[in-house]
Amino acid sequence: SSSGQMGHSFRRKPVIIIVVGMAGSGKTTFLHRLVCHTQASRIRGYVINLDPAVMSLPYGANIDIRDTVKYKEVMKQFNLGPNGGILTSLNLFATKFDEVIQVIENRADQLDYVLVDTPGQIEIFTWSASGAIITEAFASTFPTVVAYVVDTPRSSSPVTFMSNMLYACSILYKTRLPLVLAFNKTDVAQHQFALEWMEDFEAFQAAMRSDDSYMSTFSQSLSLVLDEFYKKMRSVGVSAVSGAGMDAFFEAIEASAEEYLETYKSDL
Ligand code: GDP
Ligand code: MG
Repeated sequence: SSSGQMGHSFRRKPVIIIVVGMAGSGKTTFLHRLVCHTQASRIRGYVINLDPAVMSLPYGANIDIRDTVKYKEVMKQFNLGPNGGILTSLNLFATKFDEVIQVIENRADQLDYVLVDTPGQIEIFTWSASGAIITEAFASTFPTVVAYVVDTPRSSSPVTFMSNMLYACSILYKTRLPLVLAFNKTDVAQHQFALEWMEDFEAFQAAMRSDDSYMSTFSQSLSLVLDEFYKKMRSVGVSAVSGAGMDAFFEAIEASAEEYLETYKSDL
């Protein structure tokens, strides 16, 4: 056995699932669905909410940033707008994150998954120092996987789809963690088009050409970069509302956790 970068002993379980995605992609609803699924399947889950500004949660969080940091107070105290308030709240919480890791370590034997909800606006978590600190604290102690939630109906135009994939790509390279693309809202629109575009470069190029965006030449060059990226991750279609795709999602998570363990070992 080996030691994590932060001095914790490294464990195989639980697997940490950090749920990220664009605002409104359905992270919180998806997390609720995951909680329901784990409870029904006797999978032992633990839930952490890192969104300080959420009004109400559909699931019960075991650890909730809102219990520690009052986002409205932070806004007043530091004279900040909403985004600054959320970011500062996350910074304050990140300074105590070793305590969160300790709590999970103490319960590790009784847990299969830790489900982590992140703030609505994606960049607050993915492009902040505190988001990086929190991700690193998880990943140096437990197998950690990023679940990138995609709003499938809103990604049906090739240019929007590509922007979303570029963002996922940037997260993959920034965190260097296995990434599962969860194409959400398949109750509204199936994700078949996305799979086709990812598997068949020509099909995506054809869709791109029929898109009358003036950026299309630039976009076609970018799509070459993405072709490489698609090989590195797993994609599943899910619906947080209907519950479709849960088994496939957890299979992808398990495979990603295995991949994480392989990479982690070879890094030492
Ligand atoms: P977040 O900002 O990423 O946490 O997104 P929310 O979970 O708050 O969801 C944003 C909106 O998308 C809400 O109106 C949800 O009801 C809706 N939503 C989330 N998941 C699904 C889904 O699978 N199907 C449908 N039809 N709507 C969904
Ligand atoms: Mg949310």
